[in-house]
Amino acid sequence: MIRPVSLLLLILASAALSAQNNTPTLPCQMEEMTSPQFAEAVELSGGVCVIPMGIMEKHSRHLPLGTDLYEARAAVISAAHKEYAVVFPPYYAGQIFEAKHQPGTIAYSNDLIWQMLEESCSELSRNGMKKIILFNGHGGSTYFLQYFCQSQLAERRDYVVVLFQPGADPEYDREINPLKKAKLDGHAGEEETAMMSYIRPDLVHPDVIGQESGADLRRLSQMPNAFTGIHWYARYPNHFAGDFLEPNARLGELLIEKDAKQLAGLIRYLKNNNDIEQLQDEFFDRSEAPVKAK
Ligand SMILES: [Zn+2]
Repeated sequence: MIRPVSLLLLILASAALSAQNNTPTLPCQMEEMTSPQFAEAVELSGGVCVIPMGIMEKHSRHLPLGTDLYEARAAVISAAHKEYAVVFPPYYAGQIFEAKHQPGTIAYSNDLIWQMLEESCSELSRNGMKKIILFNGHGGSTYFLQYFCQSQLAERRDYVVVLFQPGADPEYDREINPLKKAKLDGHAGEEETAMMSYIRPDLVHPDVIGQESGADLRRLSQMPNAFTGIHWYARYPNHFAGDFLEPNARLGELLIEKDAKQLAGLIRYLKNNNDIEQLQDEFFDRSEAPVKAK
């Protein structure tokens, strides 16, 4: 028999539970979900999954090999908290041949990085995630990912792939721009140092900042009108492009949050919109139809 005081406790407990249930308790990170939770996440996300993409490569001497992965995941997880989407597990297969001379680089072959991404997308689709956003944290993968998106038109598929493209944001840029002090800021430079100081300050080593040069050596600057694979090595053989490195965690937070806000906007758009799917289907209907003379 339930005594009145126990009954009261029971009512209070169930009220607290239902209050809790009103707030979404589903994790957004796929690796943290149970299988039944994943099925719920497919519904709640509208089938939108984001793959935050990093790499394993040297980031000068003061930042960890996985810097791009940390940065991408921080922005994507923050975005998924603003607008719910499933976040794919840590993904570090990308284009990074130009860092093979530096310890710790994991430079997979072209075939493998292509197949890894192709099959990750098709497996997500098989699981009900039909709208896949690639969030690139590594500059060296840019051409690969753009070509991967173009290649989605090679054959019909029942899902869409889009590559997030960050842009200007006056609200954030007003605060970000005065905080930036570097004249040269690229790989492992001011912004990346700031972001890691915000995300994982314990992995930043300020004591070795500035021990190697991040200057542009311009060793192919005489070559007119051309692009070549060795260009990055010609300019920045230390895998560092920067001249000012005072860690500024606030700058890092703003940079992450700016991307997170824009990515949340893209997630929302894909949830509420099927234009890409419709255009893709129309395109395949036309490209597969027999050619007829008019
Ligand atoms: Zn980086």
